[in-house]
Amino acid sequence: MDTIDWSNLSFGYMKTDYNVRSYYRDGKWSEPQLETSEYLNLHMAATCLHYGQEVFEGQKAFMGKDGKVRIFRMRDNALRMQSSARGILMAEPPVELFEEMVVTAVKKNRRFVPPYESGASLYIRPLLIGTTAQVGVRPAKEYLLIVFVTPVGPYFKEGFKPTPMVILREYDRAAPLGTGRYKVGGNYAAGLPADEKAHRMGYSSVLYLDAKEKKYIDECGPANFFGIKNNTYVTPESTSILPSITNKSLMQLAKDMGMKIEQRRVPVEELSTFEEAGACGTAAVISPISRIDDLAENKTYVFCTDDKPGPVCEKLYHKLRAIQYGDEPDPYGWITVLD
Ligand SMILES: *Cc1c(COP(=O)(O)O)cnc(C)c1O
Repeated sequence: MDTIDWSNLSFGYMKTDYNVRSYYRDGKWSEPQLETSEYLNLHMAATCLHYGQEVFEGQKAFMGKDGKVRIFRMRDNALRMQSSARGILMAEPPVELFEEMVVTAVKKNRRFVPPYESGASLYIRPLLIGTTAQVGVRPAKEYLLIVFVTPVGPYFKEGFKPTPMVILREYDRAAPLGTGRYKVGGNYAAGLPADEKAHRMGYSSVLYLDAKEKKYIDECGPANFFGIKNNTYVTPESTSILPSITNKSLMQLAKDMGMKIEQRRVPVEELSTFEEAGACGTAAVISPISRIDDLAENKTYVFCTDDKPGPVCEKLYHKLRAIQYGDEPDPYGWITVLD
């Protein structure tokens, strides 16, 4: 095997040894199968290709100082995939099957789990697609669940750093009663133009407002939003937000640190009252936000400088990472330790 340069991994794709697959046919899921090929043999009329019957998950495994591999909140990802599958009428993989496939994918690719010192991790991507060949708009009868993994570098290569984000009122990501709350590829396709524009303008991400009234904060592209003020962790509630497992974890940790938690509608103007703000998701845990520009309204909300995140973001970030890598105990049963 080629040696992997652990310190130079990006958030890209690297071929690993195996992926794991289960096929849903005649109302039943097959036993998980180990595959070495990275390719699918897929019918060109499969529903995933035409009508977007595709949902996915994103989660991580971490190598501890003790050389043990830990998978974070696997059951929550299984339950969320079930919810996404129900949301667009796909077969729901049983939790036990999902968990077995994730564990197998990690164990069989153990040599790709980055060492503790690198600060890198193994990204796990479960993917569910409709495979029945048809051109009529109907849910598929057959499905394929695949779990593959790829090592990814630490999100913050030069340390934990704040970045600016932007509100682009001329774009929406998801409708209030649409698919925003499900992890479907279509939401990401809808977000690409706004994302591209934000990146071209030097922002790390778009902060979306609710699509109906443009009054309330929704989420940041692929991450949930939170703000901190008066010892309170505030995060938006909305029918078009994907329920982030990182956000749920941070709420628990903030509560245990003695903070109050508010999950409610957050008006845009409230941004001016936050002492800190961040985006949260599996990739970065927390991406502290230095400032938010609301371009159409010609407003800027500043939270911190470009080099120094706020103290609460810092504390929450280090606490969650410490649990994930096994440096601190896991009182919540979030971690599956592999032997
Ligand atoms: C995956 C995702 C998140 C983050 O969820 P985590 O479970 O924390 O990784 C947030 N928003 C969207 C739209 C997502 O797809």
